[in-house]
Amino acid sequence: MPDVPFKRLLTPGRSDERYFFRSDFTLNLYHGCNHGCAYCDTRSVCYGIANFDQVRVKAGALPALDAELRGKKRAGVVSMGAATDAYNALEAKLQVTRGALQLLLRYGFGVVMATKSALIARDADVLAAIARQRYSCIAFSITTADAALAALLEPGAPPPAERFAAMGALAQAGVPTGLWLNPMLPFLTDTRENIHALLESTAAAGGRFAICHFGVTLREGDREYFYQTLERHPSLAGVKAKYVNAFGLAYMCPSPHAEALAAYFAQECRRLGLLDSFPALNAALATVEPQQMRLL
Ligand code: SF4
Repeated sequence: MPDVPFKRLLTPGRSDERYFFRSDFTLNLYHGCNHGCAYCDTRSVCYGIANFDQVRVKAGALPALDAELRGKKRAGVVSMGAATDAYNALEAKLQVTRGALQLLLRYGFGVVMATKSALIARDADVLAAIARQRYSCIAFSITTADAALAALLEPGAPPPAERFAAMGALAQAGVPTGLWLNPMLPFLTDTRENIHALLESTAAAGGRFAICHFGVTLREGDREYFYQTLERHPSLAGVKAKYVNAFGLAYMCPSPHAEALAAYFAQECRRLGLLDSFPALNAALATVEPQQMRLL
């Protein structure tokens, strides 16, 4: 499989911390993803990624990243894997993500990342060192507590229990971690029972936060793939028709019960001691401010 060429790895741009995880740069070391999520936004036509299910690595990424990090005047927080999962099928062997984390540690940068993979537990040592030195925030993308439903919707990803086990391993190592309950799929996962089970598991694993937007986005490319998945599985019969009737071609597809579910979510997070908003989470983790770049 061909490697992916690139010109620059780190894209600067500070996130709006009212609406997202804190970050100062984005970094994607791979193209494509093997987790096969039925609702994946990166399949959308607007991104133009061919053969999205085949993971490809950016050739020579680590020496290039080393040079880019060394050239920065100030360190910051790097968001990894925004357009793909940094812990994919190739990463177990190539260890490019691990190598990048070691470089972030070496140059005093922080990291924020969402993943569906339990492989991230392999790198608990580096992530914990980054957390101690600078800033680390790892969000586990887990959309349903129902393993059978997860196998239909996210066929290439580990079962929810394995993701929670990895969350527990990171928390045990001292890495701030929590639940990214996105998307919440109307007519499939938007229930109080699902929220209750996921939040209980997050708290039991030592997670510190849970973030949910109570809906899904669908657009050209992504929508068709999602509907094909719904049509393929007899247990999901009738769900596509509900989407078509409720949302048509709309991009934003909120749960019909979003308001009530949000109230329940907030109540459960309070009960379990989980942070449930970006302002609260980013403020809680902002214990070390950016420092002048060290000369190494
Ligand atoms: S893990 Fe993320 S990038 Fe990969 S298929 Fe699922 S939603 Fe897409």
